[in-house]
Amino acid sequence: MNRHILIVTIDSLRADHVSCYGRHETKTVHLDTFAGSGVRFDRHLTSVSATLTSHCALLTGCTPLVNGVTWNDVTTPRRRKTAADIAIEAGYTTTAITSWNGFQRQQVYGFQEVYSEGGAAAETNRGDHTLGRVLDWLNVVDPDLPQFLWVHFIDPHTPDNCPSPFPQTYAGEVAFADHLIGQLLDGWDEKLGEANSLAVITADHGEHLNDHGVERGHGTLWPTNLWVPLLMRGSGLIAPGASVPELTRQIDVLPTVLDYCQIPMPHNVEGMSLRGLIEGSDRDLGLVHCGQAIHDDTHAVTVRNRDYALHFGDGGSLAHVFDLRSDVHEEHNLWNTDAAVNYSAEHSRRDSQQQ
Ligand SMILES: [Zn+2]
Repeated sequence: MNRHILIVTIDSLRADHVSCYGRHETKTVHLDTFAGSGVRFDRHLTSVSATLTSHCALLTGCTPLVNGVTWNDVTTPRRRKTAADIAIEAGYTTTAITSWNGFQRQQVYGFQEVYSEGGAAAETNRGDHTLGRVLDWLNVVDPDLPQFLWVHFIDPHTPDNCPSPFPQTYAGEVAFADHLIGQLLDGWDEKLGEANSLAVITADHGEHLNDHGVERGHGTLWPTNLWVPLLMRGSGLIAPGASVPELTRQIDVLPTVLDYCQIPMPHNVEGMSLRGLIEGSDRDLGLVHCGQAIHDDTHAVTVRNRDYALHFGDGGSLAHVFDLRSDVHEEHNLWNTDAAVNYSAEHSRRDSQQQ
């Protein structure tokens, strides 16, 4: 029987606020333990910092410009199979338990059984209520059939409405989400078994926290919005404590899950399996990340590789280039600097001599 699959998305969770990623004062014990039992991706970028669009990219393995869902209000028919479609064809039973009714605009991506309602500010859809629905589902689910469950926790999306004793701040919301993850994994492992499953925890996008001139919110191309955690656990498949330092992309998650679960991947999935990076057989893949923000009058695109980030668009008003080797937070725009112009000319001369 194929492994059970669990994908958890934590809305608006920045990678740098998960303690196994580094520096923050909030200790995310359960996320850290999960990371230690599998692999942590250290530079993982989402395609777009809007909830519906981002999840569509995650669950199709294709960027928004390819899957056709470029912003939250877009309701175009899906142009690619989703993870649920693919899993159903492979014999899985698919279930989505989410905290946002916006997913209904995309028919909750084709999951057979869905609970998807409420919004970011709805008390009844806070993470503890979502967890309750998951635990109810676990009580009745058949472990002898391959199960694919997607859980979306709205926290730590604004408003900061987590229950006591968690402080009603972003950090408090993150700690609350971590607490929920602990209970979810306990229930999952007890019913469906860690050894029989592949589990993924990630986020749809990050959050501004007084960076780049924005107090709170998301929707931009800055790394605080696009850099998200990606943790993956597969007992017997993924060595505990592994980490991947390379740039990886949200569209690569689905191909990796399919690879590990031995499910055939449609030929038109844009991403690629990261299994070789996890196991050390691939190195320096040179993946290029493409992201975007297309919303009303905002048409902005970003392209990143290992060393550089480029942002452009908005009718010509946006033009940024950053050298990530010395400026990982993207604070020193080189677009109009002599260095950028000289580098470009030098680069052109070098390339022309190689023809
Ligand atoms: Zn979101």
